[in-house]
Amino acid sequence: MNNTFDIGIIGAGIIGLTIGAELIKRYPALSIVILEKENQAGIHASGRNSGVMHCGIYYAKDSLKAKACAAGRQHMIDFAKQSGISVKEQGKVIVATDETERLTLQKLYDNALSNQIPVQQLDEKELQEKEPYAAKGTGAIFCPTTAVIDPKQVLIKLQSQLEKQGVTFLFNCAVIKLNKYNRLLTTQGYIDCAYFFNCAGAHADTVAKLFGLAEQYQLLPFKGLYWKLKPSAQHKVNANIYPVPDLNMPFLGVHFTRTIDSQVYIGPTAIPVFGRENYRRFQGIHFRESLSISYQLFQLYWQNTHHFRNVVHREFKKYHAFHFMQSARKLVPTLCKEDMEPSPKTGIRAQLVNTKNHQLELDFILEQTENSLHILNAISPAFTSAFALAKMIVDKAALALP
Ligand SMILES: Cc1cc2nc3c(=O)[nH]c(=O)nc-3n(C[C@H](O)[C@H](O)[C@H](O)COP(=O)(O)OP(=O)(O)OC[C@H]3O[C@@H](n4cnc5c(N)ncnc54)[C@H](O)[C@@H]3O)c2cc1C
Repeated sequence: MNNTFDIGIIGAGIIGLTIGAELIKRYPALSIVILEKENQAGIHASGRNSGVMHCGIYYAKDSLKAKACAAGRQHMIDFAKQSGISVKEQGKVIVATDETERLTLQKLYDNALSNQIPVQQLDEKELQEKEPYAAKGTGAIFCPTTAVIDPKQVLIKLQSQLEKQGVTFLFNCAVIKLNKYNRLLTTQGYIDCAYFFNCAGAHADTVAKLFGLAEQYQLLPFKGLYWKLKPSAQHKVNANIYPVPDLNMPFLGVHFTRTIDSQVYIGPTAIPVFGRENYRRFQGIHFRESLSISYQLFQLYWQNTHHFRNVVHREFKKYHAFHFMQSARKLVPTLCKEDMEPSPKTGIRAQLVNTKNHQLELDFILEQTENSLHILNAISPAFTSAFALAKMIVDKAALALP
């Protein structure tokens, strides 16, 4: 097996694949390998998300999220259209249900205007025309550019294009260690590359530490569980209905999403868990790691910044169908338990906590050495943002590339 390449990309999620696509477009002569510990692309966050291409309304103007989200959405839509992948540009409503939320909704509206994101305030009648079953609430806005896509289709298409362009994929190939001669030890032996991109999602902090970076970050996994509307209740949601989020937290709150195949998902939750891949019961829990996750959670809980305790209490309750339904009912008040069924879909966010100030990181984080670039905290909307983020990342690495 050839084990020497110009570029090694660690992780075959959307970030790894879009970086591969950007590199091969700019530098067709480079030899590129994508190293993936699973047996196929998109087994983790990129294949388990809501498939919503966000418009970018939530993000502060100077953040990487704001810079990449709207541009990434457009790029992904163009890619989908060129590749024959279906996209529904159906928009979404955000509904405020009390006075505090109404004030936050106004902030979102102002933020959209200052970031040139199309947005429209809705009166009660307009909201009812769009979403007849949505709560009347205290205010609503419409984001027309929000769209949905099947994330797995995007990954399949990207992988096949990259393979045709000569990119090598090594599956079942987990990165274990970097030795002092800059050789990467994997489960398939040593791989030598002149430059590495770390796109390892929920393991990106661990991989970055192999390169001497990310010392102040640790992953704090939050699980996203979903329910679905039964076919008999799907008429209650036309497109996407979202709550007003707490802008200090990186979660959007339980919402309704009509997917590309017209199923209506409710979720995801943001329940703290004790393993990076703890999708079910005790799966993916490792004793030492779960202790350090517990310690970081305890610190956040103790400090209670931005009412973190309330978040934890509220989210844990959502394991219970009744409480999950209560939070969904805020948006669609006629929802009843006969309308919903559990869904096997579960995702885990690659959320980092800063261990120095015990704050959750809100933006994407890029760190570099002279021969590597690391994409950390690739949380939502990293799927939407991926193509635009890949351009920024390759720009940032350009001078050091072979
Ligand atoms: C429940 C949920 C809902 C979401 N909804 C949305 C949404 O609607 N819209 C949106 O824009 N974003 C959404 N997101 C966020 C989005 O899914 C992620 O930000 C994005 O998929 C991150 O992509 P990635 O490539 O960084 O990570 P991943 O897709 O997790 O890919 C990382 C890859 O690296 C591999 N890997 C890890 N460690 C190693 C190693 N040591 N060696 C080799 N390979 C390794 C993993 O196996 C994995 O395949 C959601 C996320 C979740 C969890």
